[in-house]
Amino acid sequence: MRTRRSLPALILLFFIAPFATAGGPLVVGGPAVGNRPAFGKDGEPFIWNTAKMPIQYRVDPGPMSVTSSGTTVIDHNAGVERVQNMFAVWQGVSTATLSYSNAGPLLPAGSYTGGDLKTAQQFNDVMGSCNAGKQNPVIFDADGRLLVSLGLPPEVIGFNSGCALDTINGYLLSSAIVMNGQFQDGINSPGSTRVNLELTPNAFDEAITHEIGHFSGLDHSQINVDLLLQGTFPCDTDELAGLPLMFPFAFCQARKDAGLPVLSPDDLAWISSLYPNANTGDSYGTISGRIFFGDGASQVQGVNVIARVVDGSGTIEDESRRVAVSAVSGYLFTGNPGQSITSSMPQSFENNTGGDRNGSRSTGLIGYYEIAVPPGTYTVEVESVFYAFVGGSGVGPLSPPIGLQTPEFWNTDESAFDFTLQRSTITVHAGDKVTDIDIILNNNFFHRFDGNEDSGAVFDAPIAMPELFIEDTRA
Ligand SMILES: [Zn+2]
Repeated sequence: MRTRRSLPALILLFFIAPFATAGGPLVVGGPAVGNRPAFGKDGEPFIWNTAKMPIQYRVDPGPMSVTSSGTTVIDHNAGVERVQNMFAVWQGVSTATLSYSNAGPLLPAGSYTGGDLKTAQQFNDVMGSCNAGKQNPVIFDADGRLLVSLGLPPEVIGFNSGCALDTINGYLLSSAIVMNGQFQDGINSPGSTRVNLELTPNAFDEAITHEIGHFSGLDHSQINVDLLLQGTFPCDTDELAGLPLMFPFAFCQARKDAGLPVLSPDDLAWISSLYPNANTGDSYGTISGRIFFGDGASQVQGVNVIARVVDGSGTIEDESRRVAVSAVSGYLFTGNPGQSITSSMPQSFENNTGGDRNGSRSTGLIGYYEIAVPPGTYTVEVESVFYAFVGGSGVGPLSPPIGLQTPEFWNTDESAFDFTLQRSTITVHAGDKVTDIDIILNNNFFHRFDGNEDSGAVFDAPIAMPELFIEDTRA
């Protein structure tokens, strides 16, 4: 009997988002609905205003890591240097216009009057000033006690929390990062009453660099998800090379420790898509299309689409695992368009008439994807977003994700009955916009979700329904 392999004990990458997420970009604008005003620009990702670069962040004046007994392991200056190097990873992308600068220590706010930020109250007050758009705090939780006091598990390496948005112009205005220094205190005692985990410096820095990806407006990405199921450590280098830094869980060795750049091709492509500069068009083309149910007409949102370079025969590396860029279908469309049924329930239990404010309502975007890729020859494939990627670990607009029956490749003769492994290749030059790479999902049952609500027969025979007894157990 095959047993399902349980997920490896994971260290958590985390974001606490006050807004729903999109897949690719973290927040996408939506139109005015009813009395609700427009949310940024319809169908466009929220980004930092490139006319106001560099993005100014402020750092906790305390040490980065201390032991539980109070011995400093990484002092403030060493911590700041590491933080600067983490921001520099994203700033260093030559095809993106993005820069950051350290504007000095955290600004006082309420109970926080300066110095090492330690208490939940100080944290809440500083977050209040972040929510007011006054500062972008980078907080050292040197011994991990702040995270515990916030109710987070000790496996959280750090998190990003988006603060304020310019909902008129579609800009990110402020955001915060918290780093759990307990992962760098030199003590690894996973079994102890107070769990204390340890990461290599590179693994820790990469986890926080992932948080800076969220800070910059990126959602999670899923590529080479089979690594998660293999559960082997260290991870295969080819697979790791293509594994996005923005993958929801951290479970492999640090990319740097494997001799790889901190950012994968997917991370580079997405940050360049959000913040294109004069070099971007010379370095990328795009592949776009729509994902359809088996009827070939109804679009499918929430499917992971991956463009992979065709493996070259002249190298020992597997380029198809190394060079890949993904998008989730319908990433620009809202994950919750709303419905008026429950809003008219007695006592107005729920009013979801207008749905979420984020994401477009342009129906042509429901199954749409667009992937920026470096020049090369690609295959395009679809797969489910992994079932455990929900909430703060979500990928794309739907949480929980939907399941496909079978992953499949795109080919030039797409239909609901084609051979799932049949693939055609797409050659992309810099500046190319390859469109209409549409995939019709192969499936035997789900022509589309709402079409599956009954047997599909036009004239159903009457069925004698068993009586349903609904008991009111309330006192
Ligand atoms: Zn994350």
